[in-house]
Amino acid sequence: MSASVDKVLSLLPKYRKFGPGKWMAICPAHDDRHPSLSIREAEDGKVLMHCWAGCSVEQIVNALNLSMVDLFEDSARDFRGETSGVGSLRKSFDYRDALTGVSQEATAVMLIASEIIHSGSIKPHHYDRLRKAESLISDALAVAGGR
Ligand SMILES: [Zn+2]
Repeated sequence: MSASVDKVLSLLPKYRKFGPGKWMAICPAHDDRHPSLSIREAEDGKVLMHCWAGCSVEQIVNALNLSMVDLFEDSARDFRGETSGVGSLRKSFDYRDALTGVSQEATAVMLIASEIIHSGSIKPHHYDRLRKAESLISDALAVAGGR
C-alpha cells in the first residue's frame, strides 16, 4: 500500500477492503449512512476516490483535512525503471512513459502551487515533493540522453 493510501485510510472512520487496492468507506464529506466512498490505489500509488453520492474529490479531501497534493504524495516515478546499466537503460527507455511521468510531476507541482497560494506558506513535505519532482524530471532527461 502506498503512503498516500495509508494516510487517507487512517483518517476515515470506517472502511473495508473489497479487493486488491480497493476500499469502500463512509464518505466524510456528506451525511453518509452506507459506505458510498470508493477508494482505489492507482498503479503509481496515487489515491483515486469517488463518492457515489456526488461529493467532489476536493470536498472529500477538505473533510479529511488533507490537500489534493496528499493524494499524489508518493506517485513520483522512477523513470529509470528496474533495468540496470546504461546500455539497457537507454534501450528500454520509453518516451511515452517518461512524458506521462513528467506530466504527472507537472500536475503535482501545480497542485502544490495552488496549495501555497491558498495557505500563503509552503509545508516542508511539499517542498520535499517539489525537489523530488525536479530531480525526477532531470533524471528523465538524463536517461533520454540529454543533460
Ligand atoms: Zn460523499
